[in-house]
Parts: sequence; C-alpha cells; structure tokens
Amino acid sequence: MPKHTKVVKEDFVCANCGNKVKGNGRTNHCPSCLWSMHKDDEVPGDRASMCQGMMKPIGVWVEHGEITRIEHECVRCHLKRFAPVLPEDDREMLIKISVADIRK
Ligand SMILES: [Zn+2]
Ligand SMILES: [Zn+2]
Repeated sequence: MPKHTKVVKEDFVCANCGNKVKGNGRTNHCPSCLWSMHKDDEVPGDRASMCQGMMKPIGVWVEHGEITRIEHECVRCHLKRFAPVLPEDDREMLIKISVADIRK
C-alpha cells in the first residue's frame, strides 16, 4: 500500500475557547484563539500521536514582515512545532502572540 498524506476535512470544537471550527483539510488549529492539538506525530495529518495534549501558541515566525508560521508547544509533552498561518486566522491574536514572544 503506498503511503500518502490523506486530506481529512474534519470539523472540530476548539477545546480551549469552544469555537466551532470548520475543517478545510489544512486546519490543525483554532483560527480564533490559535490553540492546536497534539494529534500528529511525524507528518502533519498523520493523526498518529497518542498524546492528544493541547498545543499552546507560544510564538510566531516572521518572514518579510509577514507572520507566516505559528509556533505551538504541547502543554502535556512539551513538543514544539510550527504550523502555517491560514488566511482565516485571527490577525489580532497573531500580533498578541508576537508581542508576547519574549525570545525576539
Ligand atoms: Zn479556540
Ligand atoms: Zn504532546
């Protein structure tokens, strides 16, 4: 069986803010509070992780003056990972995270 990334369009309720998120196949975080969930291990979308911890947005990645990625840290296992910013993500929340990011 060839292994390929399956695009799963799944709706989910954000465990942090209760927002009902419409999945579009790329959604792995809540567009309003930007929290994510530790579901994937190696490949985004593999849903292989047993952790299921909440992933807190702890920082952002800025390229050419644009916020392009969100850095998440799992509150349970402390895994850190970047997720691409999506067009529907809350800009104000992104800026808040970037201001709170003390490593700059
Ligand atoms: Zn949320
Ligand atoms: Zn985890």
